[in-house]
Amino acid sequence: MKKMKAAVLYEANTPLRVEEVTVDDPKDQEVLVKMVATGVCHSDLGIIKGENPSPFPIVLGHEGAGIVQKVGHGVTLVQPGDHVVLPGIFTCGKCRYCVEGQPALCSEVLPALVTGTLPGGGRRLHKGDQELNIFYTSAFAEYVVVHERTAVKVRDDAPLDVVCLLSCAVSTGVGSVVNRARIRAGESIVIYGCGGTGLSAVMGAKLAGAGKLIAVDVFDHKLQKAKELGADYVINASHDNVQQRVSEITGGGADYAIETTGNLDVTVQAFASIHDAGTCVLVGAAPFGSMLTTPPYQFLLGKKLTGSLMGNIRTRIDVPRYVDLYMDGKLPIDKLISRYYSLDEINEAFAALERGEVIRSVIRF
Ligand SMILES: [Zn+2]
Ligand SMILES: [Zn+2]
Repeated sequence: MKKMKAAVLYEANTPLRVEEVTVDDPKDQEVLVKMVATGVCHSDLGIIKGENPSPFPIVLGHEGAGIVQKVGHGVTLVQPGDHVVLPGIFTCGKCRYCVEGQPALCSEVLPALVTGTLPGGGRRLHKGDQELNIFYTSAFAEYVVVHERTAVKVRDDAPLDVVCLLSCAVSTGVGSVVNRARIRAGESIVIYGCGGTGLSAVMGAKLAGAGKLIAVDVFDHKLQKAKELGADYVINASHDNVQQRVSEITGGGADYAIETTGNLDVTVQAFASIHDAGTCVLVGAAPFGSMLTTPPYQFLLGKKLTGSLMGNIRTRIDVPRYVDLYMDGKLPIDKLISRYYSLDEINEAFAALERGEVIRSVIRF
């Protein structure tokens, strides 16, 4: 058992409280990781704002990276001293999704998320006698305990305060383009939302050889960043007619649309901006309980509407691969990071995210 600082959320629409809590020693097949950095993501904000249901009290944070400190009995995948990225997804290795090569859909993840436990059950964080609920990895804490299959070993020379973004935004964005859309060289793509995930999709599309690469947002500074990262065209949805512009640029509709905002109006727009044989991939998390309505004849034409969770990545294959791409200068994910904060400044980090000031900010421990 170890004392440490963590940011605890006691109820929705209240500030996070950075306070001393305790973390258990790792049990069988678990590892204790000393955190180095954790990105600040909209999915955490959705829980803080009460848009998505959650058990309380809870420690948020799911975009972390750190160094393995201690391993429990039976751990074979990592050892103390290993640098690890901690994607929120867990792979049980036994369910149909894991077996057929789609571990991002592992059937053990959702039940754990709903109950605020580690996959397979149990909590490892306490405030006095009270157990604290877990959100994916609960990485807004100085230490985390996770199953060894959540910890993905990466090369020692990769800066953890950059590659932590592979735990969520970058894997989600790049994976949605290369694993789900599977864009081929020369095809056109329009990406809605230029936050961490959307800009990662821009980088993924550039890397995959997209033809006309279009980025849409309402903030000019984010669109400027999209251009730097490879977008050929940018559209400001606050004053341009997006559908008309996409149609003009692509000659009738894009081959692919990636929707990263989770906003229902934007989702409808994204689906409308592909041509009759195009594919629209939903990546943003729409508020829990919201409904999408669309005329079914569009599906008869051959339009495809699908989604992607965590970019459909296979963590131990894709994360080290994306780290190499970053280190080789082909996936400049450091350009997504606008600011670094300390854990004590976490409420300010969320306020800046909500104001749309930052692409990504990262808590450094
Ligand atoms: Zn996230
Ligand atoms: Zn599984």
